[in-house]
Amino acid sequence: LMQLSVPLNFIGFIYREIRQGLTDIEQMFDLLDVKEEVTDRPGAKPLAVSAGAIRFEDVHFAYDANRPILKGVSFEVPAGKTVAIVGPSGAGKSTISRLLFRFYDIQQGRVTIDGQDIRDVTQESLRGQIGMVPQDTVLFNDTILYNIRYGRMSASEEEVKRAAELAQISKFIEILPDGYRSMVGERGLKLSGGEKQRVAIARTILKAPPILMLDEATSALDTQTEQEIQDALDLVSRGRTTLVIAHRLSTVISADEIIVLRDGQIAERGTHRDLLARGGLYATMWDRQREATEAEERLRRARETD
Ligand code: ATP
Repeated sequence: LMQLSVPLNFIGFIYREIRQGLTDIEQMFDLLDVKEEVTDRPGAKPLAVSAGAIRFEDVHFAYDANRPILKGVSFEVPAGKTVAIVGPSGAGKSTISRLLFRFYDIQQGRVTIDGQDIRDVTQESLRGQIGMVPQDTVLFNDTILYNIRYGRMSASEEEVKRAAELAQISKFIEILPDGYRSMVGERGLKLSGGEKQRVAIARTILKAPPILMLDEATSALDTQTEQEIQDALDLVSRGRTTLVIAHRLSTVISADEIIVLRDGQIAERGTHRDLLARGGLYATMWDRQREATEAEERLRRARETD
């Protein structure tokens, strides 16, 4: 019987791995509402990442042929640097992140990583090299330990705890009745947007990918949570090529370059300082956001003194 139980356990393990993998992909596609229409080219090789430089060269893209979304977008994220994409709602910011993952193929131009066209490499290797911190992280109906370990299944419990610390979520976990063994997800404890995002950051710290893609939540976070998340993100993005779809100002200030996207084209680009000095679209957006933040703070202070 012993001889049989080992392979059976192994089959069980493989089955769980596959099921979890499928769940993940399905949930990801559900979330993005996309169909799996992209396939590997015959003989596609794995992506070989050395430095991790990303280039978009004259990228044209439309979900529907008669409605162009990106109209000739070119930019580079040099190895280890951070580029933030900002712009009005519907400008095409999230589309850029989907194209980097190759959820869709572009109609014209090229997207490369270390000089390799992403259409020429296997999707598995491409997605394996990119760590994604999405707007809304999908949690599995399992323990919080499992949910963080998902970033790298071979990680030890110590490594999981260390990642949770770096992601500034460990204090929250430690006061839960069952600690790291607490059940989360739809059938367990519901986490807030900011907590889920920190779980995603912890996963990414474990995965340690050379390229990072952050899609910031649009939902408002309180100033302290925002600062905690920012600190965690700074840590995880250090030395990694990072593309940020930015909604919050705190992330963009320190970016090496900010790309201002409007109607699928780059309207302005430069550092935070350059763009403020220019007094264009970015400067207007900045003023508006700062006013909104100040108004929120005033409201909060007024509530506190009530
Ligand atoms: P936001 O700041 O509001 O998130 P965004 O700049 O990220 O906006 P995208 O999500 O990239 O904008 O969308 C750009 C345009 O593409 C929008 O007009 C949107 O309606 C359209 N779009 C997005 N996803 C799809 C899709 N799956 N099919 C068809 N059109 C889509």
